[in-house]
Order: sequence, then structure tokens, then C-alpha cells
Amino acid sequence: MVTNIHCKELGKSYKGNGVVTHAVQNININFTKGEFSAIIGPSGSGKSTLLSLIGTLDQPTSGSILYDGEDIMTKSKKKVADFRFEEIGFIFQQFHLLPTLTALENVLTPLFARNVSYNKQERAKEVLEQVGLADKLNSLPSQLSGGQQQRVAIARAIVHKPSWLLADEPTGNLDTETGELIFDLLQQLNTQEGCGILFVTHDPKLAQKANRIVSMKDGVILSETGGERV
Ligand code: ADP
Repeated sequence: MVTNIHCKELGKSYKGNGVVTHAVQNININFTKGEFSAIIGPSGSGKSTLLSLIGTLDQPTSGSILYDGEDIMTKSKKKVADFRFEEIGFIFQQFHLLPTLTALENVLTPLFARNVSYNKQERAKEVLEQVGLADKLNSLPSQLSGGQQQRVAIARAIVHKPSWLLADEPTGNLDTETGELIFDLLQQLNTQEGCGILFVTHDPKLAQKANRIVSMKDGVILSETGGERV
């Protein structure tokens, strides 16, 4: 159970056609489990890159991220994948559900070929119930509304009991009211399960509801309220 994520002089650059883009640079920040952080900033400011780096989906080009003091990216691919399975759940703007699988089958996908101590079917049903979809277990994504599809995606993100939820514009494809309901659901997971949540959003009204706001521009952190700056 990782309780602290420490980004240290973190940077990610891309080279192409002789041009270097610093997607994020010189990021120094601490996230503590149990916090609900909103990450805001204009398009291209590095929000998704920061989330991918923290989620171990991407390698930094400078600096490091320490998870309870350990630099996971220096370990083997298998260790990184196991770490991600144990610690991190992702939610995206596009729900990324598999269209031919039911809600229940979609939620079961992260558990495929994994040894876990609980009953997979029971756990998947439990999380679908938790997100308010107990009556939609056998529905295909095409039979669900956008908000319901995002709820399935949230159930899939939490089925393996991660300590951290990384959400990249999860309300970006939803109307305001549905977006607020999804935000409230994540807030509930934060308070009830103690998940650390990093929530990327364009919506300043939603961001105001988080206990911490990290504001990014041109790959750097411009300002921050709450939490602990290092
Ligand atoms: P945001 O999520 O805030 O919109 P991103 O993290 O997606 O910002 O992108 C930050 C910057 O990095 C942008 O200038 C973007 O064009 C660039 N970038 C992101 N991914 C890549 C990539 N794979 N190759 C080249 N440039 C990239």
C-alpha cells in the first residue's frame, strides 16, 4: 500500500523533427494517500503526461518518482506491471470499455490471469453495485448511457482494490449534471475507501470541490492550494 508519491525534478521530453517538447519539466510535488487532488490547466500543459508518469505508463526522461521512497521504474517490467496492478486504477475521458463484453465482463478484465485472494465474480458484482449498477451486470456498453459507461469504467478501475485512482478528464464526455454525479462518486470512494485521487479536469467548478488544486501551464506547476509542496 503506497501512501506517498513524490515527484522529484520530474521531466518528460519528446524529440521529433529536431524539436524538443518539454511535456513536463522540473515537477516537484508530493501526493499523499487519501487526498483528492484536482489537476487543472489548458490543453497541452502536461496534465496527461504527469498522470501517465505517475501511473507508471510512461518513463520520465529526467528526475524520478518515488513511491514510499522506492523508484519503481528502475525495476523489471514484470515488477512495474505488478506494482501498477496492486496500486493504481485508471479512468479515462473515453471510457475504453470493450464493446462486445457485458458490464460485468468488462469489470473482470483487470483480474484476468491474476491470482487474488477474493472471488473475482463476487468482487466485480460488489463494485458494480457500489457504483449503482447492480441491475446492469449483463448490459453491453451500447445499452448504457455515457454516465453509466463511466460508472462501469470506475468499477473496473477499483475492482483490484488500488490505493490510487488516476482520472484523466473523466467527466469530459459527460453533461454537467452527469459529470457532477461522477465527481461525487469519486469523492465517495475517496472518503470511504481512502483512495488517493488525482483528477484532471478542465472544469474549475469541479476542481473547487477537491481538497487540493494543482494548476499546470507549459509543463510546469504554476500554483497549488492545499497539500504539501516539496
Ligand atoms: P494536457 O494533458 O495538459 O493536454 P499533454 O500532457 O497531453 O497535455 O501534452 C503536453 C505536451 O506534450 C503537449 O505539447 C503535447 O503536444 C506534447 N506531447 C504529449 N505526448 C506526446 C508524444 N507522444 N509525442 C510528442 N509530443 C507529445
